[in-house]
Amino acid sequence: LTDPIPPSTMEYIPLSDNALTVLRERYLAKDDQGNIVETVDQLWARVAREIAVVETLYEATHEEVASIEEQFRRMLASRTFLPNSPTLMNAGRPGAHKQYSACFVIPIEDDMQSIGDAVTAALLIHKSGGGTGFSFSNLRPKGDRVRSSGGVASGPVSFMKIIDGATEQVRQGGTRRGANMGILHVQHPDILDFVRCKTHDGQIRNFNISVAATDEFMTAVKEDRLYALINPRTMQPIKHISARLVFDRIVEEAWKTGDPGLFFIDRANRACPIPNMGEIVSTNPCGEIPLHGFDACTLGSIDLAKHLRILPGHDQYELDWERLDQTIRLAVRFLDNIIDANDHPLPQINAMTRQTRRIGLGIMGYARLLMMLGLPYGSEEAIRLTERLAHQMKAMAWRASEQLAHTRGVYPAWKGSKHEQEGRKVRHSYVTTVAPTGSISMIADTSAGCEPEFALVWFKHVLEGRKLPYLCDLFEATARREGWWHDVLIDKIAANHGSCRGLKDVPAHWQQVFTVAHDLTSEQHVQVQAAWQQFSDTAVSKTINLPSMATVEDVRHAYVLAWELDCSGITVYRDGSRASQVLNLGKAD
Ligand code: UDP
Repeated sequence: LTDPIPPSTMEYIPLSDNALTVLRERYLAKDDQGNIVETVDQLWARVAREIAVVETLYEATHEEVASIEEQFRRMLASRTFLPNSPTLMNAGRPGAHKQYSACFVIPIEDDMQSIGDAVTAALLIHKSGGGTGFSFSNLRPKGDRVRSSGGVASGPVSFMKIIDGATEQVRQGGTRRGANMGILHVQHPDILDFVRCKTHDGQIRNFNISVAATDEFMTAVKEDRLYALINPRTMQPIKHISARLVFDRIVEEAWKTGDPGLFFIDRANRACPIPNMGEIVSTNPCGEIPLHGFDACTLGSIDLAKHLRILPGHDQYELDWERLDQTIRLAVRFLDNIIDANDHPLPQINAMTRQTRRIGLGIMGYARLLMMLGLPYGSEEAIRLTERLAHQMKAMAWRASEQLAHTRGVYPAWKGSKHEQEGRKVRHSYVTTVAPTGSISMIADTSAGCEPEFALVWFKHVLEGRKLPYLCDLFEATARREGWWHDVLIDKIAANHGSCRGLKDVPAHWQQVFTVAHDLTSEQHVQVQAAWQQFSDTAVSKTINLPSMATVEDVRHAYVLAWELDCSGITVYRDGSRASQVLNLGKAD
């Protein structure tokens, strides 16, 4: 399969109209009147400069800083790697917050002061473009005693509403509302209220919710046993309840609205290299980063589809491992610099991030890569390649962290960490992840994270009611080259739920190569997630996109399989299950 874009120009592919629209609306610096005051090239240059200057902390000379700055600029301009949105929006922009991370977790204790502090933290973080995760598991249950007032407690869900209401009022950079994750431990006595809070308490609009499910709970579901609900204030069991009953409610609600997801909390803590920093109880809003309280993570993602080369003497692509390694090394350095460049809204976050030095190096363009290699998403061959890619890239990323540790030292919380026990000197506690890349994949003109193409023709609701239309350019180029393109093909695909499966106009081979989200079984989605989980030190952001006719049983199957395949968590979304959704089948007009 040959791509319409000659490899010689692969380094600098021109920006599409969609990419330009997103950049103009949300990323390019504006003056007080809202006029754009920089070009796209100036955006790359300002970000590269701001992040390269950090090298002076490590005694780099003027020439060395200039050289790194130029390498960063080229990496951004070629869109082979892009950092998360807050870095692109804020770095080097006069008057902007020097806050470059997307992911935060704020701890909540069982007292009013802590809840008030969490609201303040959320507002400040959202204002600078980040998203916040909270665990409400420490809060005493509804109806429990409040000694100081002699009254009764209102429970975790009521406090979620307070944060939700505050969040509603803050628009990030004037363009988007802050995103929150709300987590409740499956043993919390209010778990059933929590599970249905998005359908029964319609006012909770700015939270994704996940149940922190333990291995013990998942085993009890499989074996149809009871498990204990425990009051976090007294640590006493208050009753025993059927695990299947709770699980049924979870999957029914998820079938209805997409919430709650599951967060496999034991797995997150087992995989944690820094138990010396305490227990992990929550993730960031989209679930890819489990974090300790007051820790933050800056994400950055490599576009896999821009790391291909033509196989010598053949008309085919292959992965360019050498270039992938180069990009990974430079990206790890870029993200390491951001930890020092960041000035977070709370001093506790500055202190924590400089202890753990977490970074979140992820990928995007995975579906596009498979299409260019001619491998159907979710196929056995594709999964095998993914596992190989996951292992090699993870090794490359950790090697890059080790190399930085030679010159810059290990992360401070290394003392007492599992890395110390293993005798492994690394610069970061965590390195890899798979982020959603909802916005930056549009800027990079590539497919999002490890997701399949949503459809061959679709549109995305973005930017205050605007619709961005999308047509898979690789599909069009292939159809034209192979001679089966015709004027109404796209209309036929639109009428076929965005898929070319079963259309006699499209040869069977290409029907497979151009697999889209709803062509896949929930099992295939989860298998791909599990394959990428092998790359990720943290979790993997993946939505198990189901067609509207999917059943509660499909959701149940996916949730159990995710746990069995050692995923860190799971989220499903059934097409049409919310009145307004971000990704939509069909043409934009
Ligand atoms: N995020 C957020 N608000 C949003 C979208 C994202 O706070 O509207 C945060 C959230 O923590 C999420 C992370 O950014 O997990 C990464 O999301 P994504 O990769 O889609 O961000 P991008 O860098 O593409 O904007």
